[in-house]
Amino acid sequence: MPTINPPAGTTKRDQSVDTFVVSAGRPERVPDAPLNTPIAPASSFIAGGPMEYARYDSPTSHALEDVIGGLEGGLATVFASGMAAANAAMDLVPMGAVVVAPSAAYTGVAIRLRELAEIGRIQLRVVEVDDTTAVVAACNGAQMLWLESPTNPMLQVADLPACIAAAHANHALVLVDNTFATPILQQPISQGADIVMHSVTKALSGHSDLLLGALVTTDPELAEHLRTRRVFMGALPSAFDCYLALRGIRTLAVRIERAQANAKMIIPLLRDHPAVSRVRYPEFGTMAAIEISEGADAADAVCASAELWTYATSLGGVESLLERRRRWPLESETVPMNLIRLSFGIENADDLWRDLKQALDSVVPN
Ligand SMILES: *Cc1c(COP(=O)(O)O)cnc(C)c1O
Repeated sequence: MPTINPPAGTTKRDQSVDTFVVSAGRPERVPDAPLNTPIAPASSFIAGGPMEYARYDSPTSHALEDVIGGLEGGLATVFASGMAAANAAMDLVPMGAVVVAPSAAYTGVAIRLRELAEIGRIQLRVVEVDDTTAVVAACNGAQMLWLESPTNPMLQVADLPACIAAAHANHALVLVDNTFATPILQQPISQGADIVMHSVTKALSGHSDLLLGALVTTDPELAEHLRTRRVFMGALPSAFDCYLALRGIRTLAVRIERAQANAKMIIPLLRDHPAVSRVRYPEFGTMAAIEISEGADAADAVCASAELWTYATSLGGVESLLERRRRWPLESETVPMNLIRLSFGIENADDLWRDLKQALDSVVPN
């Protein structure tokens, strides 16, 4: 059996993020080398080199790991989906460990943590991540603090340094799911996090055309351990998906800049609209949630009558999406029935507002 390759992502980022997303993860500059890392569709490699077998590693995933690792400031390991990455991280804690997690974490993560608690694999302590006192108290005796900030879909923001300090005082491992903020707006490792997680499916790849996940850590031993988990869980992403993600990540900085500007223009208009009873927006980023005064059916009607905005799940793509989250039977019960999650894309802001306004105008209370 070949040894597991040392993690990629060792590129030290000495450039600003908007330059780095364009320049990193490229082939060596030699005559006739392609500008882009080629797709290597192979399950096996000629013996004697570092790759050997595609469940261990691939040249295309290495290039993507260089970019994601450099962006977050650590060693990246990419996975076949965000959930595959999450499962590898959940595997790190010992049997019966106390895990502290958000009440409304990403649905799949919340379901998986509940399943692990039900079979006795972990003890789960659920908290509101924006209640720092509660998070600090829950960290007492914990082995892992699982954070999402802002949370999906409630947009709760955690005081990362305070929560991370409380976890570390208990020698607990801290993971931050940074999918909503992206490394353009927040780099949790610089605030003390041990592991940063991404659903690369979302903003990092940015075009709603693939599934991919990533874990980033500064600890080489931990990184090695996570890569081993990936090998034996069989969770390496395909070379083609890594290529698409690399192509998408080139424009991450400009996409976030534009989508955030769209959000900042439209949020005040939503706050003033009579059909909207509450707007959740943490004052940064490309994600928001609104609550519809007239309830869940009216929220469904808004989703159905939007024409430019697309009624679909997922987020972080170039196209604006909206979704009533409680249409999913397994979504957390703390998410209001009338809540619509908004993922701002990069279209024209006036066009986006005109469409959202016509959809909201149809459900104004009498
Ligand atoms: C989508 C998402 C995930 C899961 O990622 P997949 O790529 O769908 O497996 C995890 N966390 C957050 C915050 C997400 O939005």
